[in-house]
Amino acid sequence: MSFHSIGLTDREQKLVEKLVDASRYLEEIFWRQLDPDGLTLYQSLAGSKDRKDEALRRYLWINASRFDLIDNNKPFVGTDPMPPTRGFYSKGLTREQIEQYVKDHPEKKAELYSTTTIVRWHGEQLEAVPYHVAYRSFLEPAAQDLREAATLSDDPAFANFLRLRADALLTDDYYQSDLAWLDLKDPKFDVIFAPYETYDDTLMGLKASYGAAVLIRNAEESQKLAVFQKYVADVQDALPLTAEDRPSKHGLQTPMEVMDAPYRTGDLRHGYQAVADNLPNDPRVHELKGSKKIFFKNFMDARVNYVILPLAKCMMRPEQAAKASGEGYMLGTIMHEMAHGLGPAFARTSSGKVNIREAIGPIYSGLEEAKADVVGMFGLKWLMDHEVLPKDKTQEYYASYVAGIFRTVRFGIAEAHGKAEMMEFNYLCERGAIKREPSGRYAIDYAVMPIALNDLAKVLLEIEATGDRQRAERWFKKYDVMPADLQSALKSATSVPVDIDPVFSFKETVR
Ligand SMILES: [Zn+2]
Repeated sequence: MSFHSIGLTDREQKLVEKLVDASRYLEEIFWRQLDPDGLTLYQSLAGSKDRKDEALRRYLWINASRFDLIDNNKPFVGTDPMPPTRGFYSKGLTREQIEQYVKDHPEKKAELYSTTTIVRWHGEQLEAVPYHVAYRSFLEPAAQDLREAATLSDDPAFANFLRLRADALLTDDYYQSDLAWLDLKDPKFDVIFAPYETYDDTLMGLKASYGAAVLIRNAEESQKLAVFQKYVADVQDALPLTAEDRPSKHGLQTPMEVMDAPYRTGDLRHGYQAVADNLPNDPRVHELKGSKKIFFKNFMDARVNYVILPLAKCMMRPEQAAKASGEGYMLGTIMHEMAHGLGPAFARTSSGKVNIREAIGPIYSGLEEAKADVVGMFGLKWLMDHEVLPKDKTQEYYASYVAGIFRTVRFGIAEAHGKAEMMEFNYLCERGAIKREPSGRYAIDYAVMPIALNDLAKVLLEIEATGDRQRAERWFKKYDVMPADLQSALKSATSVPVDIDPVFSFKETVR
């Protein structure tokens, strides 16, 4: 993940270095949030020349903890399972204790349930310590770095955002700075810099982990994206749904950026390596301004080159595997993100309009990921049919899509994307769009694929539009099982890594 300084002025390079320095402080906090004992172990191994110690240190670094973040948090050192409290709550505190305490002290609910407090026992009382207090020794210098970066920026909107974000770090109030972040117009430099995601809080799902990414605009790819964005509303109008269930998207804009990330820390650095993100998560910001979609181009290229293409070689008919490409995978990913915003806005049920997530229940996240994949591929076909994209790319796009499925199903169906793509794979096999050959490899029928995808898009969109929970559950129950054939075929690919471990030009540290 080299930093390419060519073409950047001295001042711009200094700006990037300042943002990198600031990001390091979020790394420090993240380890303390995720696994404080893991950090102690990591530090105690420093300097050891024992090969086992070195290997353990590297694995601790990959996961910022003693637990394998992409294998259900299994411990890889010792036998202690991951404590669900992590560093967010006092050790041993349980969900029941917190809920009982909040029942007895309703006035404390807001602070205990806040996404930006840690919760601990203080005698008999539970107390909530705001992040900006708990992590002040890291947040103050981070804020200072952001302010210095602001003075190095020639983009007034970005400088304004950096100053607001510096304030937010010291108050835990991110609202104004999130709004300013969404107002950036095609910025050359950008950052993700906040406690945003709450997945790491396995006790309550409330507490947000700090993460940072330094972003530099990829001008060429951003240009392509701009072309796509012009047609989002037309794709919505073309969906196989009644007009009533596809509200017009004309006149709406979602900011999207294709960026290279020469540095990431914290939540964005460890475990699963994201190639796209959609932020912030604050529903007040969504309502007022929407959200921003970011594509990490250098991470996407690495995923394609080190995971997807080698996997395609093992799993697919050779001449089809050769068609899979970084370009095809990127377009599929972009369309997937766009498609999250397409389809019905709510479910129409016998009891009136309801939130789709609530109507569908726990299976919603898998359904929505599948919808994004399939409607995204529907959109790609639409763009080819309307000559926005060249028609002779059809095979490249479908081969890249199927190669991506083989990657995702390796994560298992407990996770929403894995569940979604397992279902897609089985459905496409049933329709003959994907066939297993006598060699044990899989082949795409390019003529059947678009028809099958169109039909699947119709089913998934209808389920969302009607909020039909039973149909959703039946559908996934039928299709989201790993077939024995596929399981044994995947065994031929165990030498292909499940994910990448980035190496940056800038030094990575935690103290
Ligand atoms: Zn998605």
